[in-house]
Amino acid sequence: MNKHARIYVAGHRGLVGSALVRCLQRQGYTRVLTRTREELDLTDQLAVARFFESERPEIVLDAAAKVGGIRANNIYPAEFIRDNLLIQTHLIDSAYLSGVRKFVFLGSSCIYPKLAQQPLKEDYLLTGPLEPTNQWYALAKIAGIKQCQAYRRQYGFDAISLMPTNLYGPGDNFSLENSHVLPALIRKFYEAKVAGAESVTVWGTGTPRREFLHVDDLADAVVFLMETYSDEEIVNVGVGEDLSIRELAELIRETVGFEGDLVFDPRQPDGTPRKLLDVSRLHGLGWRARIPLKQGLEETYGWFLSHMDKVR
Ligand code: GDP
Repeated sequence: MNKHARIYVAGHRGLVGSALVRCLQRQGYTRVLTRTREELDLTDQLAVARFFESERPEIVLDAAAKVGGIRANNIYPAEFIRDNLLIQTHLIDSAYLSGVRKFVFLGSSCIYPKLAQQPLKEDYLLTGPLEPTNQWYALAKIAGIKQCQAYRRQYGFDAISLMPTNLYGPGDNFSLENSHVLPALIRKFYEAKVAGAESVTVWGTGTPRREFLHVDDLADAVVFLMETYSDEEIVNVGVGEDLSIRELAELIRETVGFEGDLVFDPRQPDGTPRKLLDVSRLHGLGWRARIPLKQGLEETYGWFLSHMDKVR
């Protein structure tokens, strides 16, 4: 692929967007376009249309979304559904109208039915009810997938949709209330260690199972599929292995070096019992995850320590 193509990374300050920018630069792409939220409000249709008209990106990687953990989804349902629908609709439509030749839409593993068979195959989409805690976000993402498919069918627009599993890595949101489990636990264990606390409280029962992909692996997969994949079928992007929240908490306790106990709080929601992606389509396309969880955790903890003053 032409290394001088103009590639717009939407959402470049987030966990995924920042990893995409790093990955593109590492791979020698020279013209990566970005705009901060202050410079371009993606919920403003006119502003987005003007941006595409003046900057004329050739490729768009859409990593712009309102995201959050199980609690944030429950507290801000209106913002999750509205902002995500607006952002993706404006990006997809302006990209199509201004002649973008490749659009990469990023969804999430929460688009699959709550009680679907595991591992989750791409074909399970829309075969059953969603997990209620994150249905708002999931519905917006499902609409985005369908919008990409519709634009491909009616207009021949080359939009592809990739479904990442739970992500983690440098640049994550480490806030205790609104973040996802992995960064939240890194922070909880770190703060407990510093305070000399006796225990750390982990939400839920500890039995749900989750899969975690390092965001640098995700970025590598996205750039690989941007270069090689062109089809309306969605593609799962994961590692193909999961662990229980209890096992994850043990691993983080060890990484951080906290010596106290784990206490589970079953009054907090568990969410989906299990979310493991089937990655055979991805493997068949020639890509596999490389970063083992233990190594990725150590690196992410190191990042957290060195960015403590700036973490969200
Ligand atoms: P989900 O994958 O969409 O359910 O989102 P999360 O990453 O927020 O939560 C995953 C699982 O981790 C759920 O079962 C949570 O109850 C559990 N969990 C345990 N402790 C925490 C915590 O401190 N923060 C978050 N966000 N989840 C936690």
